[in-house]
Amino acid sequence: MATVSVRACTTALLLDIEGTTTPITFVKDILFPYIRDHLEDHLSSHWEEDECKQDVHLLKKQIEEDMRQNRACPVHAVDQTVHTDEEKAIREVVDNVLWQMAADRKSTALKQLQGHMWRAAYASGRIKGEIYQDVVPCIKRWRQQGLKVYIYSSGSVEAQKLLFGHSVEGDVLDLFDGHFDTTIGAKVDAKSYERIAERIGCQPEEITFLTDVTREAKAAEEAGVNVVVVVRPGNMELTEEEQSHYNLITSFVQLEVTGRA
Ligand SMILES: [Mg+2]
Repeated sequence: MATVSVRACTTALLLDIEGTTTPITFVKDILFPYIRDHLEDHLSSHWEEDECKQDVHLLKKQIEEDMRQNRACPVHAVDQTVHTDEEKAIREVVDNVLWQMAADRKSTALKQLQGHMWRAAYASGRIKGEIYQDVVPCIKRWRQQGLKVYIYSSGSVEAQKLLFGHSVEGDVLDLFDGHFDTTIGAKVDAKSYERIAERIGCQPEEITFLTDVTREAKAAEEAGVNVVVVVRPGNMELTEEEQSHYNLITSFVQLEVTGRA
């Protein structure tokens, strides 16, 4: 696929994370396996602490709710290696969390526990947020030109800040003027981009959105936002029509932005 430099006259850049600033596999290959591998340890070592108690409480309420609604729930086989009530309780929580993750559930209970585990893992350096090499130098240059740079990702603002605050390039949070997540609306909804423009305090036409997902690109375009589609290893293949319709870049280096006076 041939990509050339793309010129954009813009006052603000809005960046997607997965597939744009960060390998699309980061969540699937790093973040989720971390939970699966460390869940039991985490519960055992923090079982008596308030935060963990609250996480477990929320999970139990979710299980009750699932049972009331007759949703499928994991069946607990009696585990012969379990000796105490605490071990049994931990095993039940582990089973439930693994089952929710396998089913790709997005329950608040699951997200809260995962969030706490990732926060601790980032803070201790066991996980570092991945960022493509071209990203930080380009954002620095754009900022020197007076442009504002924002993040818009379906990961929560808290998760975004963990990734960029504990990245392979250190704490790079000061590169961004603000963060948006789906609390402002879905990324495939044009209205979300109108709201973001309002929050940034500019017209949609003054924003350039970088993403790997054409459904998001289409929604942004509908709102009047400029769009550049980012092609990175492992991203979803674009159709020929999409390739000819969108401005494509394989690295941020290919994007030449000029600020609006
Ligand atoms: Mg993406």
